[in-house]
Amino acid sequence: MSETITNWAGNITYSAEKLHRSSSLDGLAALVAGSARVRVLGSGHSFNEIAEPGPEGVLLSIADLPPVIDVDTEARTVRVSGGVRYAELARTVHAHGLALPNMASLPHISVAGSVATGTHGSGVGNGPLSSAVREVELVTADGSALTIARDDPRFGGAVTSLGALGVVTALTLDLVPSFDVEQYVFTELPLTGLDSAAFGTVMSTAYSVSLFTDWRAPGFRQVWVKRRTDQPLADFPWAAPAGEKMHPVPGMPAVNCTEQFGVPGPWHDRLPHFRAEFTPSSGAELQSEYLLPRVDAVATLHAVDGIRETVAGVLQTCEVRTVAADEQWLSPSYGRDTVALHFTWIADTAAVLPVVRRLEEALDPFDARPHWGKVFTTPAAVLRERHPRLGDFRKLARELDPEAKFANDFVRAVLAD
Ligand SMILES: Cc1cc2nc3c(=O)[nH]c(=O)nc-3n(C[C@H](O)[C@H](O)[C@H](O)COP(=O)(O)OP(=O)(O)OC[C@H]3O[C@@H](n4cnc5c(N)ncnc54)[C@H](O)[C@@H]3O)c2cc1C
Repeated sequence: MSETITNWAGNITYSAEKLHRSSSLDGLAALVAGSARVRVLGSGHSFNEIAEPGPEGVLLSIADLPPVIDVDTEARTVRVSGGVRYAELARTVHAHGLALPNMASLPHISVAGSVATGTHGSGVGNGPLSSAVREVELVTADGSALTIARDDPRFGGAVTSLGALGVVTALTLDLVPSFDVEQYVFTELPLTGLDSAAFGTVMSTAYSVSLFTDWRAPGFRQVWVKRRTDQPLADFPWAAPAGEKMHPVPGMPAVNCTEQFGVPGPWHDRLPHFRAEFTPSSGAELQSEYLLPRVDAVATLHAVDGIRETVAGVLQTCEVRTVAADEQWLSPSYGRDTVALHFTWIADTAAVLPVVRRLEEALDPFDARPHWGKVFTTPAAVLRERHPRLGDFRKLARELDPEAKFANDFVRAVLAD
């Protein structure tokens, strides 16, 4: 009997009739070796066809492989199976007195799927989640195992790989000593008068800072400030402290959001915006995100402000974050300190797509790199211009996967294969 397999948001139905669930590495290797086309589905939190296996392709889940979370407290590393989700990884790591340097807004996403698309949190000094990866273990096209470590010249392509190199069965990540975080929310930060220096100061107030707006009026409705308790508490004179607990989407109940009002708590209970114990099985939303040079942050915000009414018509919330430059060839923050403009849209593809196109036009002058896992319409030829190491990645993909077993239409378009 065929199953209907969709992504978390429900806007993508995969063409595969069945989700193959590997429960052993041997079984997985045999399945990969014996299949002509394979794509892995992680936790399905992407909003586009990046995981679509195509006709006759095998859609594979590794969530049933025996989960491994091996913490080495001496070396401060963890080896984790690719299908494990950040919430579970974080709890285990924390129990050993250690921490991941940063987290995304939602802890329910799988580790391999997240780093494959360049997933990130916020913080002027925090690279994307892939920056913590020191080693990737793959099952490649012929079913053989391959480990690529940080000192391997191929490593730059191995982590943010769009799932195009093989099945990522495990990753080893760097850890840091555990830390506590206090979260404060402020309201109404004006855009007027926010110059580049002031933007830098606001975003550097704490370890991780996010601005939220609905673009219904100029400026930002909320500022979320996540301060490490081992770092100084800076004043925040630019906006007023929130009077009640807030959700980033106006009108949504704040009960599912992580603790606010400066109550200290462990890093993994404060860095994500949403609580791990709140498990959204699906979401009535679409998302887009563009990663732009941080030096242009204020100009990009004014560009969006210029089409504010168009954007606001289909928007639930917009989040502005910072990401430190990293070295993964396909990372949207590759080689440049970045400002990330994220948009949570209403769940209506037909209404959202024209606005996405309009937004992309407005951001065009700024060399916008779309988030690989979200909705975008940027033509593949433009993506190739905006990712200077794409040629190196194409070479690596051909070397590891000469028959393009792990490619799909999405990947082929990007690589121009
Ligand atoms: C509510 C919500 C909040 C989000 N918050 C953030 C955020 O704060 N920051 C941010 O940057 N992004 C965010 N995202 C986007 C999300 O992090 C990415 O879409 C990410 O890829 C999700 O991981 P996944 O496991 O669900 O990937 P999937 O969507 O399942 O897959 C993504 C890609 O990874 C590949 N892949 C997955 N597992 C493997 C594997 N084991 N081996 C090889 N390839 C694999 C797939 O083939 C596909 O190409 C959010 C998404 C949602 C729904």
